[in-house]
Amino acid sequence: MAPPMTAAHFLEALKDEGVAVVQVGDWKVHNRNHVGGWGPVHGVMIHHTVTSGSARTVDICRRGYAGLPGPLCHGVIAKSGTVHLVGYGRANHAGSGDDDVLRAVKSETALPVANEANTDGNRHFYGFECENLGDGRDPWPAAQLLAIERVSAAICRHHGWTQRSVIGHLEWQPGKVDPRGFTMGGMRERIKRRLAPSPSTHTVRPGETLSSIGALLDVRWPEIARANGLKTPYRIYPGLVLKIPKK
Ligand SMILES: [Zn+2]
Repeated sequence: MAPPMTAAHFLEALKDEGVAVVQVGDWKVHNRNHVGGWGPVHGVMIHHTVTSGSARTVDICRRGYAGLPGPLCHGVIAKSGTVHLVGYGRANHAGSGDDDVLRAVKSETALPVANEANTDGNRHFYGFECENLGDGRDPWPAAQLLAIERVSAAICRHHGWTQRSVIGHLEWQPGKVDPRGFTMGGMRERIKRRLAPSPSTHTVRPGETLSSIGALLDVRWPEIARANGLKTPYRIYPGLVLKIPKK
């Protein structure tokens, strides 16, 4: 049971994670709270918009369209990686999904395949719409994927959640295909790495090699060698303090 962050805290959490944020209009109070509940929150949901052009995409997500009033999410993640905050509170992004999926997200266990639409998701998920045509060909720039990783990690960090609390719309509601063009499994691995504590030094223990240390700390060992100015043949010894590069 997690109450949603305040809008101010949400903004701080994103900035602390290194997200480039643009605040759009009255986003902190733009929501659908008058038609339904907001919270407790259990996870983060990622979408694609099937639109192109950042300004147009942000505008649609803020206002919505005939039959689906905005906001359509909390943040719009543009191709540049900039996150435009368009609403805060209940938003029309998740729709109805599978209660078994919600249960798995809450317990952070393996996701079942969504085959029912019997549960209100707008109440329980933070939502991000990503600018993409969703045709499987429109590219996902590295900066945009990094922003997805960052916003998700920022929210998980605040609530004490793991990467398992981050799902795609396609994992929530039968028939949905978004996001398309990368896998949510791969994105969760990135979020997991971002959330892992990253020690800045490591003292070599007997029997360790650069590669075993790299595997232990989930850092590529050539990067450890480079960070410490080590040249081949690599000589490390117990007690040596290695700098461990940030991922
Ligand atoms: Zn969606």
